[in-house]
Amino acid sequence: MRGLLCVLLLAGCMRAKPELPILNYHSVGAAADDYTVPVAAFEEQLDWLASHGFHTVSLHDLAEWRQRRAPLPDKAIILTFDDGKADALGIVLPALRKRGMRASFFVITSLVGRAGYLTWDGVRALADAGMEIGSHTATHPRLPDLSDERVQDELRESRLRLQAELHRPVEALAYPYNSVRARIQEAARAAGYRVAVAGVEHGSADLLSLRRTPVNGPTRFEQFAAELAPSQR
Ligand SMILES: [Zn+2]
Repeated sequence: MRGLLCVLLLAGCMRAKPELPILNYHSVGAAADDYTVPVAAFEEQLDWLASHGFHTVSLHDLAEWRQRRAPLPDKAIILTFDDGKADALGIVLPALRKRGMRASFFVITSLVGRAGYLTWDGVRALADAGMEIGSHTATHPRLPDLSDERVQDELRESRLRLQAELHRPVEALAYPYNSVRARIQEAARAAGYRVAVAGVEHGSADLLSLRRTPVNGPTRFEQFAAELAPSQR
């Protein structure tokens, strides 16, 4: 009976939210759609975070804190951007720098250099500006649909490519479509990732499937602020 209780408690804990908000953006640009936050709305969100005392940290910082190696600031928050689109460098980075903020960018390695995506020089420029760079796999497949072998290829190949291009360790992963299962999480660990992010559906407090809150074009400002209110945390 006690064993069962422990299992239930553990399951409840793993489904919990991480101890700090992690926001999931894709693009910032002119149009508002499911993928793109308009520039003015994005700037308003960053200003709101700054004026409410939030401090941007990286997934690396969160992993270090979990291992009791380093403290986190008060009101820590992690901003993440998936897919490695070119606006990360042209729009997002200047907006972050203006406010002394950081973010984590997840790159699809096979799409680097394609039209609308970052080049390798662009990815390096983000890293040199103090941004965290993680993998969003090599080709952006829905990982649970793949064999174990192909999952490993996607996870390893992209991580090694990023490390070779950036000359620094890559420890963060974002699952394409925020889709993850227990075996995918195990594969991520085996491929050398220390921390990985998912979405609302599959996300939890687990360091290899951290829950993220989506922010996109239709996200209303009140919704954004309400999600970050202390009562929600
Ligand atoms: Zn994606």
